[in-house]
Amino acid sequence: MRLTGIRKTFGELVALDSVDLEIARGATTVLLGPSGSGKSTLLRCINLLEKPDAGQIDMGSGPIDVGGKLSPRTVREIRSRSTMVFQQFNLFPHLTALGNVTLAPIEALGRSRAEAEATGRELLAKVGLADKADAYPDRLSGGQQQRVAIARALAMDPDFLLFDEPTSALDPELAAEVVAVLAALAEENRTLVVVTHSLAFARRVADRVVFLEDGHVLQDGTPDEFFRSEDERLRRFREVIG
Ligand code: ADP
Ligand code: MG
Repeated sequence: MRLTGIRKTFGELVALDSVDLEIARGATTVLLGPSGSGKSTLLRCINLLEKPDAGQIDMGSGPIDVGGKLSPRTVREIRSRSTMVFQQFNLFPHLTALGNVTLAPIEALGRSRAEAEATGRELLAKVGLADKADAYPDRLSGGQQQRVAIARALAMDPDFLLFDEPTSALDPELAAEVVAVLAALAEENRTLVVVTHSLAFARRVADRVVFLEDGHVLQDGTPDEFFRSEDERLRRFREVIG
């Protein structure tokens, strides 16, 4: 996926200022940067949860001008390519784990219930929750809820999985369960874009580290380049966070 000139303002505030970014297929891209640097906004623009003011998104079939007026069909097409996993899980409380995982495939993809449930059970097993299919979210730990959210995202079979601080609402041991699932997905060469504050995660899982500051890409390179960079702002960030 290639993003070109993505700009997003909120009133006077420039949240993203002409961001160019190539997101490689089959790789894990980690987005780092100070709070307010535009990481969430960038993820949300990829998914059109935020409508950019200007820019283009190319998902592989040619650049689409996302700054202009978008037809509902184009919006659906771009949205269908990626799925977002949020910090706060956002499960439907009135549905079981399996119900959460099967809802969108049935409603949005038109799958039969039997097919969606078979896939849903496989995906719950994949995230280590085979025995929790019938549990409601309030009976699950935060780490389990987040793993259901990941299974739900996988059920849409997206080209790009977008994670916005997927572990920052979790205690360390529960975060570790979620990191293990993400690491396993990265091993399968899925395309992941992960916003995180965890340098350990970046070190362990990232193929690429993109550092944002004030709505700009300050650095885009290998994890090694990020961790060795002598740039004062990157050094300070590593010291404060790490
Ligand atoms: P990050 O995820 O890196 O912490 P965000 O993308 O959430 O940063 O925010 C980037 C900037 O845009 C911040 O200054 C934030 O306050 C502002 N912002 C984000 N969303 C909105 C919104 N819906 N309305 C107004 N300002 C927003
Ligand atoms: Mg954010």
